[in-house]
Amino acid sequence: MAAPQIGESLRIFVTEIRKTKFRKDEELDELRVFINPKIIETSSKQSKDWEGCGSVAESGLFAKVARPESISVEAINESGEKFSLKAKSLLARVIQHEMDHLDGVLFIDKADLATAMSRNEYLKFKEQALKKF
Ligand SMILES: [Zn+2]
Repeated sequence: MAAPQIGESLRIFVTEIRKTKFRKDEELDELRVFINPKIIETSSKQSKDWEGCGSVAESGLFAKVARPESISVEAINESGEKFSLKAKSLLARVIQHEMDHLDGVLFIDKADLATAMSRNEYLKFKEQALKKF
């Protein structure tokens, strides 16, 4: 969730990757605060995976977006301390998605619209993927 999503023109976002039945334990991540974040490095390797967004919730749209697989980011935390973080896979994706919000970019601007589906279709799709294992 990024500040511009709640009408605040600040370069701040928070991330937290909570447990769902679709997520692996190693993907989960604590609550983090990013103030004035800067992505200082991105991998040349890209990955393409599903995204949805609280700001596109009305249509409940999910679609695949290609992004660098891993990144390094620098920011200030809630205690005013500068930190840097290397992130990969889901956390890297979430951080890049939130960074885009600070620049007024929504994931649908970058998504492969051929993969777009509604929330219900997406949940069905994920349920089926679970059954395969
Ligand atoms: Zn979003």
